This record gives sequence, structure tokens and C-alpha cells, in this order.
Amino acid sequence: MSTPTSVVTPVVIAVDGPSGSGKSSVSKAVAARLGLAYLDTGAMYRAATVWCTRRGTDLSDHTAVAADVVAMPLEMGVDPRRPGVTLDGDDVAEEIRTTAVSAAVSKVATNLAVRAELKRRQREAIDAERTGGFSGGRGILAEGRDITTVVAPDADVRILLTASEEARLRRRALDVHGAADASAVEATRDQVLRRDRDDATVSQFEVAADGVVTVDSSDLDLEQTVEAVLAVVANVTGMTTASASSA
Ligand code: C5P
Repeated sequence: MSTPTSVVTPVVIAVDGPSGSGKSSVSKAVAARLGLAYLDTGAMYRAATVWCTRRGTDLSDHTAVAADVVAMPLEMGVDPRRPGVTLDGDDVAEEIRTTAVSAAVSKVATNLAVRAELKRRQREAIDAERTGGFSGGRGILAEGRDITTVVAPDADVRILLTASEEARLRRRALDVHGAADASAVEATRDQVLRRDRDDATVSQFEVAADGVVTVDSSDLDLEQTVEAVLAVVANVTGMTTASASSA
């Protein structure tokens, strides 16, 4: 008896990496091409930072921050072509990218009670896509710092996207300042290196864990990195962009 073509096996793809590795752009493009939902977990930590700041909560008060985050009215859009972030109905997609939020987010992200609450929400979002949700049960790509190790160690495909320090600083300088000259690179040092150092105290995203495939994007442009990630996905699951568009 042949299997009906409408039966879809959901795929969960986990992508971790340091800042400036190209994680978000690559992940969005891969999810869009494979017809998957997309979860930007960094945006959730950024939104938590905005929420606590708006409430006037001292970010070093761990108990107060955790209580705020448990009650946070956050909605994550999972369409990779326009992933939205709303807090209490208010669109905060731009606000979460400001330098002030980038500078403060590690304080919130190193709070272990916050991590437990956001992990719970992230698992919920992943599970929803296994049976329905935005992808209609095709699956989801979730990206962050601890997806391959803590949030979805059971993912079908687990990738660590890395890049040399030099490449990461250059990319972030281009993103934030529109230039990659020496002063722009210097100005992004705190955002990239200090933030990764702080984040690395609670998540392990600098070396691939067992079973996690490393993709080094130092010498690849965006399209080449997307292709490299798609090749890993095809290799592990057999899922290709051709099978995605015919489903
Ligand atoms: O990826 P992005 O730069 O938007 O992440 C913002 C911050 O969110 C990181 O610097 C880190 O503090 C936190 N984060 C985390 N765990 C994740 C994703 C992001 O701690 N899974």
C-alpha cells in the first residue's frame, strides 16, 4: 500500500551560534525555503529585557525579573518571511534590536528562572509545529544559544553555526553601523565579544556538542551559508527545497 503524499513527517531543526555568525539571516532563509516555521529565541530574551525595563524592574533583581517574565504577555510570530514580536499587543520588533537592549540582554538571559520559563515557551512553540501551527505540521527551525543542547536536544537536525571572531565583528559592524572600518568594528566589540562571554556562562555554544554538525561561515556569503545548512538538512533528513515545494 502506498503512503498518501499528504502525510507529512515533521522536521525540527535546531541552530545555535555566537552573535555575528549569521544565524538569524541564514535560519530565516532556510526555514522559508523548506516551508517551516521559524522561532527566534534571541528575540524572546530581547523582548523579556524590554518588558522588565518598561516595568521599571531592576535587571539585577533576579526574583523580580523572573516574576515579570513568567507573566510576560509575549506573542512570537513564526512566519520566517515576517517574524513578528509583540508585547501586550504592542509591536516591539524594532525596539528589541536597539543597542541599549543588546547591551542589557545578557543580564536577563543569565537569570536561570528566566531561562526555565522561556525554555518552556520555546518547547511549546516547537511542539505546536509538529502537529499543526503555522507550518501545518511540516516542522520548525528554532535558533539561539542553547537549542541544540537544552531546548531541543532531540531535534532531527542540530547545527552549530560558527564564524571567526574577525568575520563576526565585521558583520555586526556592517549591520549596526553600515560600515566595517576600524572604528565601527571597535564600537561593536562590546556587543559581540562581551555579550558572548557573558552568555557563555549559562549556555555552551562555542563548541559543538555530541551529534551537532558545525558549519563555519567565516569564508561564506549568506547564500553559500544557506546552501551549506540546506545540505546538512538534506543529508540528515532527506528533506530538500524541491520536496518542500512539492508537499
Ligand atoms: O541572537 P540574539 O543576538 O538576538 O540573542 C540575544 C541574546 O539572547 C543573547 O545575547 C543571549 O543573551 C540571549 N539568548 C540566550 N539563549 C538563546 C537565545 C538568545 O541566552 N537560546
